[in-house]
Amino acid sequence: MSSIRLHFEPLLLQTAHPFGISYGTSTKTHNILVKLHYEEWEALGEAAPANYHNESPATVSAVLSQWQDEEILGDDPFAIAEISKRLDNSIAGNASAKAAIEMALWDLAGKITDQPVFRLLGLAGLSTPMTDFTIGIDSLDMVEQKTIEAVEAGYKILKVKQGTSYDREIIKRVRKYAAHLPLRVDANGAWTPKQAIEMSHFLAENGVQFIEQPLPKYADVADFRFLRERSPLPIYADESVCRSGDVARLAGAIDGVVVKLCKTGGLLEALKVIHTARAHSMQIMFGCMIESSIGVTAAAHLSALVDHLDLDGALLLAQDPFAGVEYKDGYLHIPSRPGLGVVAR
Ligand SMILES: [Mg+2]
Repeated sequence: MSSIRLHFEPLLLQTAHPFGISYGTSTKTHNILVKLHYEEWEALGEAAPANYHNESPATVSAVLSQWQDEEILGDDPFAIAEISKRLDNSIAGNASAKAAIEMALWDLAGKITDQPVFRLLGLAGLSTPMTDFTIGIDSLDMVEQKTIEAVEAGYKILKVKQGTSYDREIIKRVRKYAAHLPLRVDANGAWTPKQAIEMSHFLAENGVQFIEQPLPKYADVADFRFLRERSPLPIYADESVCRSGDVARLAGAIDGVVVKLCKTGGLLEALKVIHTARAHSMQIMFGCMIESSIGVTAAAHLSALVDHLDLDGALLLAQDPFAGVEYKDGYLHIPSRPGLGVVAR
């Protein structure tokens, strides 16, 4: 048997507009492209590190170099759970680096068996929810401009970033041009419980569906519960929930969770997050970072298992170096090619 060889390189992505969230604004995202080689096959993965999850391109490169040296991947592309366990035992955290490896392993397994990943996982035949499109934090005039562009582009659901001193004005401007579109908001942890309660009433009056991460990442479970009991809108946790244990910890204190591969460290733990959330009667949204079609398509293979999709990472790019899921009329169409089904453009 030959061994699985790991290669990686920087993947610089540029967004079409400066992308603002409560932590800051950027136009460039530094991700890492992972390639696994095994016999005649090449498989792709992508790491999208976030500083608010204690990762950076430098930490991802360091940990991938270490795994390269240790030849940690072994020689069996179908030992995905075992390899993931080895990565977890090798180093704590570093979920985006682990996710890049695991999505590439699924890509490899799919290519070897000539099956798309969603079929390998037994998820054929299910329908998937529509995805939303994110309006980042910006000046009110730019928020207006971005909303007009999103409506003209035919996006069916908008997600609006919050966490400014003018959050209500942002919602009013978006509503001016997207009067009838479903809206959801993401405060990225910017509000106190008191602010979040006040905002929840304002947002409910403006027809918002739910609020994502109103409170800071490390907010007390009691604060989430306090908010949930007073909010007319469902409360979802994103930054506060990385792995399945976090879902159990917040059970009863929130209504839903946002699962992302860069937080779970791969598809297998994402499945655990999804099933743990279901066991606690929670709603689930699948999200992503600013990512190319590699990361977004890997997530899309699990999209039939969740209630809401926020897989617009590649749609926000000025140029995507890869082709994978195709966006059409609100839905992401998963490629029928083997593996992740992602190819270079
Ligand atoms: Mg979020």
